[in-house]
Amino acid sequence: MSDPTGFCLCGKVHITLPATKTTAGACHCSMCRKWSGGGPFLAVHAGPDLAMSGTEHIGRFQSSAWAERAFCTNCGTSLFYRMLGSGDHMVAAGLFGETEFSMKQEIFVDQKPEWYGFLVEGSEKKTKAQVMGTP
Ligand SMILES: [Zn+2]
Ligand SMILES: [Zn+2]
Repeated sequence: MSDPTGFCLCGKVHITLPATKTTAGACHCSMCRKWSGGGPFLAVHAGPDLAMSGTEHIGRFQSSAWAERAFCTNCGTSLFYRMLGSGDHMVAAGLFGETEFSMKQEIFVDQKPEWYGFLVEGSEKKTKAQVMGTP
């Protein structure tokens, strides 16, 4: 498989994933649901090094002490969640059209509202407490 390149709704920002990065996850937390516009944030675990173009159109919002969220300043598409410490990117899966990813993990499953059914059979599921390391 060649390196998949994805882009935002208006096409100004392009992001290329290393071909080895095909593991995806879903976050059902209330912040991700706001940011995605309603559903879980579906993202590819892409590591710290990504090729991007159109970076002058990338806006960043620090949503917590440990992470920022990037978006296209022209069209508003959510691009990626980035850990400030490790630099790891969780890139929005919707940028990549038909590229196949494997859903491995869903987090904040205890914050998923009842009104949508999403949990994927076979994925690892973690509650808020399990993610944050608190009892
Ligand atoms: Zn855009
Ligand atoms: Zn989240």
